[in-house]
Order: sequence, then structure tokens, then C-alpha cells
Amino acid sequence: MTTETKPIFLLDERDILNEANECPIDRPLETLPLNQEHAFAFWQRDIPEEYWALTAEQIIERVRAARESLGNRCIVLGHHYQREDVIQFADLKGDSFKLAQWASSQEEAEYIVFCGVHFMAEAADILSQPHQKVILPNMSAGCSMADMADPDDVYACWDELQEAGIQGVIPVTYMNSAASLKAFCGKNGGIVCTSSNAGKVLDWAFAQGDKVLFFPDQHLGRNTGLSAGINVTEMALWDYTLPYGSLGGNEAAQLQDTRIILWKGHCSVHNRFSVQQIDDARNKHPDVKVLVHPECRMEVVQAADLNGSTEFISRTIGEASSGSKWAVGTEINLVSRLARENPDKLVFCLDPVVCPCSTMYRIHPAYLCWAVEALAAGRTVNHMVVDKETAVWAKVALERMLAVK
Ligand code: SF4
Repeated sequence: MTTETKPIFLLDERDILNEANECPIDRPLETLPLNQEHAFAFWQRDIPEEYWALTAEQIIERVRAARESLGNRCIVLGHHYQREDVIQFADLKGDSFKLAQWASSQEEAEYIVFCGVHFMAEAADILSQPHQKVILPNMSAGCSMADMADPDDVYACWDELQEAGIQGVIPVTYMNSAASLKAFCGKNGGIVCTSSNAGKVLDWAFAQGDKVLFFPDQHLGRNTGLSAGINVTEMALWDYTLPYGSLGGNEAAQLQDTRIILWKGHCSVHNRFSVQQIDDARNKHPDVKVLVHPECRMEVVQAADLNGSTEFISRTIGEASSGSKWAVGTEINLVSRLARENPDKLVFCLDPVVCPCSTMYRIHPAYLCWAVEALAAGRTVNHMVVDKETAVWAKVALERMLAVK
């Protein structure tokens, strides 16, 4: 008997982009073998076939054995948004900067396996020590927000601003961006920020210049600007999809009066949260507290009780009183974990549709297994290397951020 197979390997660029941007509501949070994941078609395909049909139980056993044989030579980092079958192997879980910084302090670790996305592994490599190698288990694990700031588009924006005579602009990039954009900020008197320190970084930037070019996340930029007392009318949106010469859809005179130029990027996960969802949560649980990530839209952040980074969200719920109720606007794997870790509180996701970050989801445990088994066998797969010049300038921007108190 023959079975018809779909030609899932024939993908064009649009398919790949859609897969990263769409909410993957068909994805279970538990692990299926790779060859049962339809989305595997979009992922790094050169993982050997022996890994394709492994069950979660088989993978977990093999990862344990490989990690045991590697001992302290290998550490595994797990971003908050990773699934449980991956996060259980993490020596530290956290946000991208905390993980990269901690890994570089682990002298004995020759291998840093970063279960996160591409820009995070790049940052870990930039901060790592010379004897350390950073491994990203699946090289196709990117970030749809970071991809919205193509370095060439940012350089073109910078040139356009110069040509239009817009002076005193300080470039500020969110951690969620390519290493080359961090380097661009380092070279041009700019800085990196995280969602924890964006407010202080903005103050620093305004001490250096008159205006800020903030990329790639318009929402974090707008929400941070508003918290700093900057009116939304003093902000402009730069539409990077418009042709060169359009000033991102703005007039030069308007940009002269602007304080923050916001890149028109967003996070496909946090963009889903809405004020309607907040109203629904409050109608159902009048005593609920609404806690959202600042990558959510302005109206959502303003309607919430609290907003902050993944570290802030985890800490706030962890320290909350027993019996308290929390409606959370961030990625579902973190919300589910917080619910499990805080059984004495009601913790639920604002969005009733289960929508994991599709690019974080690409770190299927089979890729982790492949990466650590290769290391145990004396081989390195998926070694993340940022070229020297980029790393030097990116570090300049990261160090400016570290110096901001
Ligand atoms: S949650 Fe959003 S910002 Fe974070 S990695 Fe996924 S797409 Fe990127």
C-alpha cells in the first residue's frame, strides 16, 4: 500500500515568514516525535534521521546520558518560553541577557547550549570567554520581531535621517535584534536595552542626544517613552517597508520635532493580547490582577495593573499572596509553568487560544539531544560564531547598557 506524502520540503520564503509570524494554535505543548510535527518542514533539516522518530521519553533518557558524560564541561541555558521537555535540562532559566551573562561566568563550561533563539545565542557568544563555544540546537530558531529589523533597512533609515538633516539621534536597540545591529549601536554612540532596563536606558540616551531611534519593537519603545513622560504625539513610527526616500512615511519637519522614532516592528506573540481579553478576565474574576509584558500594545499595557519583563512577571507572581489571581499577557509556556509552580494562586493566560512562540518552539528536544550527543562524541554541531569586528562593537553597546544604573 502506498501513502501519499505532501511535498512539505518545497517551501518559499513567504511560507517560512508566515510560519514564524502566525500563531501556531495547532501545536501541542507536549512533545511529539519530530516526524509528526508538520512544522518540522520549516526547521533545520540536517539533523540525522535517527532523531526523527524518537519519543519524548527516549529523547529525555538520551539527553540525560549525554549530559552526565559531559559533566561540568557543558551547561544548558533555557529561556522562559521554552517547553517543559527542554527546560527540565536547563542549569539556569531566565531572560536572554541574564542567561548570557551567567554562562560567561561559568569558568568550567566549555560548551554553552542555548535553548532560546538566534539573537540570544549570538549575545551569549559575544559575552563568552575565549575557551567557550555557544551552541544553538536548531539554527532556524529565529525571532520574528528581530527579523523585522533587517540590518540593511536600519542602515538605510540612518542614512535617510542624516540626509534629511535630523541631528542628535541616538540609536537604541532592544536585545531582540541581530548582533550586527548591536554593533551598529556600539559604533554610532548608541546602546542596547532589555525589557527590564529600557526606562533607564532611555534616560541615558536622552542625556547623550535629542532623539532616539528605537528598534525593532515599536511597543516596548512607545510604552517606555510614555512611562518616561514623553507624549505619544512626540513619537513617530518608521515604516521600514516603504521605499528609500520616504522617511519611513514621515515628513522631515515632523521628524525634527519628534523625540522617539519607533521602528515598526512587533512581537507576534505579545501583539495578540487585547483590551477585550482584559475586560473578559475582569468580568470573570473581579479581583484578578492583570500583568502583561511591555511588548504588548500600548492600550493593553495601559489597561493592565502591572507590566514588566519575564523576570518581573515570574518574581511578582512568585512573591504574591496565596489565593491571589493573575491574568498574564505573555508566552504560554511561561504562564503554564507559573501556574504549576504556584498551585496556591490562580494563574492563567489572558489569551484563551494556546499560542506558543513558534520560533522558540523550534528548539524541539530532539535538537537538544543531537547537540549534546554530538558534544559527548567530541563533535560540535550548530556552533554560533559572531565575527570579531561585530562582536567588539556589539560589546561596546552592551557594556554601555551594563554601566547604566
Ligand atoms: S516571544 Fe516574540 S520577541 Fe520573543 S522570541 Fe518569540 S517572537 Fe521573538
